[in-house]
Amino acid sequence: METNKLYSLPELPYGYKDLEPYISEEQLRIHHDKHHLAYVNGANALLKKMDEARQSNAEIDVKATLKELSFNLGGHKLHKLFWPTMAPAGKGGGGMPKGKLADAINAEFGSFDRFKMEFSKAAVSAEGSGWAALTLSKLTGRPIIMQIEKHNVNVYPNFRILMVLDVWEHAYYLDYKNERPKFVDAFWNIVNWDTVNTRFEEVSECSCATI
Ligand code: MN
Repeated sequence: METNKLYSLPELPYGYKDLEPYISEEQLRIHHDKHHLAYVNGANALLKKMDEARQSNAEIDVKATLKELSFNLGGHKLHKLFWPTMAPAGKGGGGMPKGKLADAINAEFGSFDRFKMEFSKAAVSAEGSGWAALTLSKLTGRPIIMQIEKHNVNVYPNFRILMVLDVWEHAYYLDYKNERPKFVDAFWNIVNWDTVNTRFEEVSECSCATI
């Protein structure tokens, strides 16, 4: 838990030279100390800006602010996952998947080589502020490769949803026609706060990974 309600740049779990020759010290320094830090600072600046606006009840461009926040939080989250994904070659880095991960990859892809090929293609062809990621469906037990084309898809990866409102036209058109704001106003009358609170407590108490 980050106690000051702001984000901070995590230390690398190895030295800046330790990933050489695969990633140089200079590259790793600029990536971690400049690029990752920019996401952390960006997210914190937006949170402070929102705090100030709320305290003085000032106008704020909510859409633009949330889009920018998602870009920065997405970047922070993914980099925070990225650094421990790596280790110095021969000292924890490289080789083959181990344990249950290896079993799952073999069961899903047929072989490590097949997985490696698919993951590499996903990485090479990712667009935008892109990433390739491996994820796991807890429902099916399948490891699934994910291409992330942008940080700012307005989704905070891995964040469990506490409260949601469908604003596609099918959700309100019969009642409100084109007047979505009226539907949104009406929603506040029917929010089940017990449900939202229960979800909040579950996420607070679970050991699931989030930022
Ligand atoms: Mn990066």
